Amino acid sequence: MIFGRSIVIVFVIYMTMEWAWNTATGTSFWKPWEMAISAVLSVAFFGGLAWLITNVGMGLLFGGNPEYRAYRSTGGDPFFDSLPRIFNRDSQTVCASGMDEPQTDFDPPASWKFRCPRCNARVQHRIDVCWSCPYGQDSDSTAYFGRYGNVKPPEISDADWAEIKRRHDV
Ligand SMILES: [Zn+2]
Repeated sequence: MIFGRSIVIVFVIYMTMEWAWNTATGTSFWKPWEMAISAVLSVAFFGGLAWLITNVGMGLLFGGNPEYRAYRSTGGDPFFDSLPRIFNRDSQTVCASGMDEPQTDFDPPASWKFRCPRCNARVQHRIDVCWSCPYGQDSDSTAYFGRYGNVKPPEISDADWAEIKRRHDV
């Protein structure tokens, strides 16, 4: 999808260049179908190269970082997520968290920055009972570990985290 949009954009740029060249020289040296093939090849080559460099580079820099691994495992891609919005039609929610949020009448306050690991509703605390699904009510944090890995949320105490892990590991 992103690939197709990139090809169209590059093709338009190439057609403009072709038109400028042919007008300036009075020839029709470059034909539209040649431009189309060039556009496809350019996007495939440079897009593939850029994707490879970004992902390999981020993997080398942050491959050992559990938050980066959690980001990758929820469908995050450092290359596609950094593209301008014109190339990437995913919603802000999907870009940031890898899934959509539930459609409800309740609009959580802007200060609620965390995501329920089960239903992706915006919640006040990272580890809490979710108002929407209601994750956390049975003290089962399997969904948290599945989504974020073995990463202690910075805002909770070591003792609380040890307790959560102890319950999870049972
Ligand atoms: Zn939830």
